[in-house]
This record gives sequence, structure tokens and C-alpha cells, in this order.
Amino acid sequence: MDILWAPWRMAYFEDPFPVEGCLFCWAPRQEDSPTNLVVYRGQRAYAMLNRYPYTSAHLMIVPYAHVDTPLHLDDATLLEIMRLTQQAMQVLEELYHPQGFNVGFNIGKAAGAGIREHIHLHVVPRWLGDTNFMTTLAQARVLPEALEVTFEKVRRAWHRRFPPAGPKAGGADMTKQAVVSEQAPRAIGPYSQAVKVGPWVFCSGQLGMDPETGQLVEGGIEAETRQALTNLKHVLAAAGAGLEHVVKVTVYLRDIRDFAAMNTVYAEFFQEPYPARAAVQVAALPKGAAVEIEAVAYVGEG
Ligand SMILES: [Zn+2]
Repeated sequence: MDILWAPWRMAYFEDPFPVEGCLFCWAPRQEDSPTNLVVYRGQRAYAMLNRYPYTSAHLMIVPYAHVDTPLHLDDATLLEIMRLTQQAMQVLEELYHPQGFNVGFNIGKAAGAGIREHIHLHVVPRWLGDTNFMTTLAQARVLPEALEVTFEKVRRAWHRRFPPAGPKAGGADMTKQAVVSEQAPRAIGPYSQAVKVGPWVFCSGQLGMDPETGQLVEGGIEAETRQALTNLKHVLAAAGAGLEHVVKVTVYLRDIRDFAAMNTVYAEFFQEPYPARAAVQVAALPKGAAVEIEAVAYVGEG
């Protein structure tokens, strides 16, 4: 039986990583550097180097989701974790020519998991006789390569072999962008006309307001509905989307008896499959409007 002797790992338990909260939630919120040790980001999981490695280039594949067991991961995340494991092995083979790998989860205290609350898959490259890599003399930890050097090499090789594509979910790359359209009424308060996050567009409620005059259009519920949906269309366009991408609409009516009239105009704007929708009567709307309409759109990957 081979025994991998790693006495410095004691430091891991005596001197935990100086991060408030969960290390694996913290790391992807930072810029990638030898500080967070994140070498590659996927859509649902990322790869980072272990700061207290068993061997050089000891990697971990981590889901963005904070879960303590793979039983709580969806199929897409499970698949990506294994894809990233494959990529990690290819990158490590190219750089370090290991003769084998240990790949696995430590789940629960009894299994020796260092950070139990957020699962991570270890990918540990192995060489015959790799227990000789370090000396335990004078309590010194001697690895053949500094962590910063390993970080740069692995990160570069990984991005060269597998160029990341599309918007990234989770962590720092799921950035929130304010959407601005000149063809819809300006936001006149602490809100955005819409916010885009990854493939999703969340549109603020639109009134039947003419963006030129800043006044409600004349003509009652039909005219206001038409103008509100036209404004919504322009806001979506500024986010690279159209009404065909809308998945959910909420319609606020000052008087529910306007429902049928609103619905007739609404039907001119949407095609099948229609978005999900709720329509409710409210006590009042800004500027005495008859209708306000908000929407959520999904524009897919890329
Ligand atoms: Zn976490």
C-alpha cells in the first residue's frame, strides 16, 4: 500500500484559510490570481488549486452552488464537474506528465473533508515515488514548484486548450448590467429600465408614457397598453432581446374592468407560445396611469 505522507496539512486545520464565510463561495467572487487560486471558470463549476496540496498542481473542481453533498446537484452541474475533471487531467498531463490521478470527493467529517459545507472534487496528479517529493526535515515543506508558478502555468494551459465561451454563470462573471434605451421613458429614480444578468432580462414596469413628452398618452386603456408595450419592446431591444423572448409578464390595472380592452391590444404584441402572465387590479398607479406592465425575458446563452 502506498501512503502519501503530508504532515504540513496539519497547518490547514490549525490555521484555517483567512476568509470570512465559505472559501468556495468567496473564491469565485474575487479576480483570478494567486490569491483566490481559481484557474478556470465554467458555467456551473470552476477549478482552483489547493493551497495546501498533497502534491504539486493538486486541483479541485467546485460547483458555484453551496451544497454539502452531490445529491443536491442538478444533472447539468454534475456533467460539468466531470467535464472540468477531464480537462484538468489533460492540462496536468501536458504540463506535469503524471503517471496516475486520484480523483474524488471527501463527503462528511468521517471521510476527512476539510471544508464539509461546500463540496469539491479533488484531482490529484500522482507519480511513482511522489512521496519522496518533500522532506519532513526541520518541518520544512518542499514542493518542486511554487504555488504562484503552478497557478500561472495551469491557468494559461487550460485557457489555451479550452477557450471559455459565452456568459459565465456564478461567481464574479454573473455580472449585473443596467439596460438603457433612449426610445423608452428614462428611469426617474433609483431603478434601471431593465437589468440583464447572464441570459436573463428583468424589465421594470412600463406605463403608457410617451418618452418624448414624459406624459401619459391620450386615449385610455387601449392607447396606454399599446404605448407601455412599445416602451417595453424598446427596452428589450436595448438588451439584445425582443418580445418573443419574454417568458413572464405582470399587468397592473387601475380597474380590472379594463381587462378585456387591455387583452385585445396585448394580443397584437405577442405570438404563441405566449409568455406566462398575471393581471391584477391595484389601488393606484404612478401618474394616474390606467395600466403598468413589467416583464422577464430569457435570451439564451451567448
Ligand atoms: Zn460555499
